Amino acid sequence: MIFEVLTIFPEFIECYLKHGIVGRALNRGIAQVKVYNLRDFTTDKHKKVDDYPYGGGAGMVMQIEPFSNAIKHIKSDGKKRKIILLSPQGKRFNQELALEFTREEAVLTFICGRYEGIDERIKSFIDEEISIGDYVLSGGELPALVIIDSIVRLLPGALGDELSSEEDSFMKGFLDYPHYTRPEEFEGMRVPEILLSGDHKKIALWRRREALRNTFQKRPDLLKNLSQEDMKILKELCSEINKKILEDAHEPVNN
Ligand code: SAH
Repeated sequence: MIFEVLTIFPEFIECYLKHGIVGRALNRGIAQVKVYNLRDFTTDKHKKVDDYPYGGGAGMVMQIEPFSNAIKHIKSDGKKRKIILLSPQGKRFNQELALEFTREEAVLTFICGRYEGIDERIKSFIDEEISIGDYVLSGGELPALVIIDSIVRLLPGALGDELSSEEDSFMKGFLDYPHYTRPEEFEGMRVPEILLSGDHKKIALWRRREALRNTFQKRPDLLKNLSQEDMKILKELCSEINKKILEDAHEPVNN
């Protein structure tokens, strides 16, 4: 997969992409990220990319010319691409969209804004507007990295042969199960015995149950289209949780 990022802070993007899973995936050629410095597409000697807003008001607005020059240059190779504007006003990004993008054949080009945003006429150059959540950041660089990272870890081979993203939260419509590593006991807290049993079938069942419990307790809105087997586990969990609530309610209060 090929990604492109157009930004005034190329070093932010390059620095993040050197490390961890994404860094390794890029080194292995599983994906490619090309970063463009918006200032290289300015025509004045100060490499200015912003100006005062028409109509007055606080803050600066990014000018359309450098973006237009850059996008025309990027597009000149004739490759099929999707130009994505990062903006808090865009369609909300999620795991489903990340998965959809892994099937995308076009190059994904991310346009990062700064200041109050980009001159509205940028809309005539873009194919999609995407937001990473209902909050406002200072620039589109983190959103671009969030999106690239979440897509790259889904690409075959990105997590290495030993790992898989299939059990990750949201991948099967519910959250991940709890993870433990050594030591077996820490400050009186023990690793659940079943994980030490070596019984893979029981461990798989426990994990499924705990993933359902996590989802039921933290994100019940995700529980949809459950299989009959999962419905059965969920019913058992509900009666277990209800029983505990009733027992706790019965305990005398010490004061
Ligand atoms: N005034 C604008 C926000 C500008 S923030 C508004 O209220 O809509 C500056 C830049 O940061 C934006 O141009 C965009 O590229 C990026 N940005 C900020 N929050 C974002 C979010 N939640 N998702 C994606 N991009 C975001």
